[in-house]
Amino acid sequence: MAGIYVHIPFCKQKCRYCDFTSFPDKIGLAESYMTCVFHEMAMRSEELKDCNFDTLYIGGGTPSVVDESYIAMLVAAAKKYFKLAENAEITIEMNPGTVSASKIALYKKCGINRFSVGLQTALDTQLEDLGRCHDLKQFTACAKLLKGENFSVDIMIGLKGQTLGDIEKSIEIAAEVGASHISMYALTPEDGTPIYTDYLNGELPDNDEVAEMYAFGVKKLKELGFVRYEISNFCKKGKESRHNLNYWRRGEYIGFGVSASSHIKNVRFTNTFDLDEYFKCIMTNRFPVVDSQEVDKEGRMEESVMLALRTAEGLNVAAFNREFDCDFDKLYADALKKNAEYLERNGGRLRVKDEYLYVQNTILCDFLS
Ligand code: SF4
Repeated sequence: MAGIYVHIPFCKQKCRYCDFTSFPDKIGLAESYMTCVFHEMAMRSEELKDCNFDTLYIGGGTPSVVDESYIAMLVAAAKKYFKLAENAEITIEMNPGTVSASKIALYKKCGINRFSVGLQTALDTQLEDLGRCHDLKQFTACAKLLKGENFSVDIMIGLKGQTLGDIEKSIEIAAEVGASHISMYALTPEDGTPIYTDYLNGELPDNDEVAEMYAFGVKKLKELGFVRYEISNFCKKGKESRHNLNYWRRGEYIGFGVSASSHIKNVRFTNTFDLDEYFKCIMTNRFPVVDSQEVDKEGRMEESVMLALRTAEGLNVAAFNREFDCDFDKLYADALKKNAEYLERNGGRLRVKDEYLYVQNTILCDFLS
């Protein structure tokens, strides 16, 4: 099974920490952009006619900022051009400052069955500091509209002035309003974003403080019945994101829109990040791909290990040996020995112990050739 990703690069305003491909001042181009996305889908349909897709993820940017009729047309186009399973997981990302009852009603009507809402923090002062275009009240109103639906909430840690109590409040509110899934990320101050200045000024929590916040958040989420299934992702039983699990299992996916990336037949490729260039390519029937790399056997092995060890299910060692015709234990004997205290093996699966998942990057380096 494979996934479809569509990138909607428009936002109401630019958040201070944002490094994603999003253009707050170009929302007027939404209609032309969506037309191009539909055309890009049509261009790929023949080549992917035998591929079975079971997830569609509409991300961004802020997909909920564009007129809901475009989103309905997008879901219809995905069904028209590709074999999308009857019970496909169809997710849309939403910013609470851009939703309405009528939008959500149409999303549900067109088949969207999973919602990902960016809260980030329950404190209005912190939301303002992050440059988010919503407050807590708008989030709770949005969650009310999603009552009974399968929805995820994003929470950020490592914010300026954030306390453990603030994190607790954010998690408790997300749980109280009925989220079935919570993604908890540490803020990354990217060079070139306004928040990077705060980082340079020493205004953000340091690594040790963030690690403490993270451990606290993990504990709180567990207490509230959220099971961790990937470093930053927690859910109620059976509510894992199928779309993201496919990424971590090295599954195939096709991405549409500016900056979208794909992984098909062991080739990873990425679309242009330049909106004008994207329009030009599509209007002249050219794929907007700017980078394409075939993943060789060694690369596939590395990816399999790196991605699987991010997850709680871990790496199926026997399947790995079969796929790559090798002996995992022999091949990675040094890395396994060096990291023995951080790893555990259960039922033929190798995983990073839960308490070390947050620092798994350092462990994984030893598995790279
Ligand atoms: S809503 Fe998301 S994509 Fe848009 S500016 Fe904020 S962080 Fe970036």
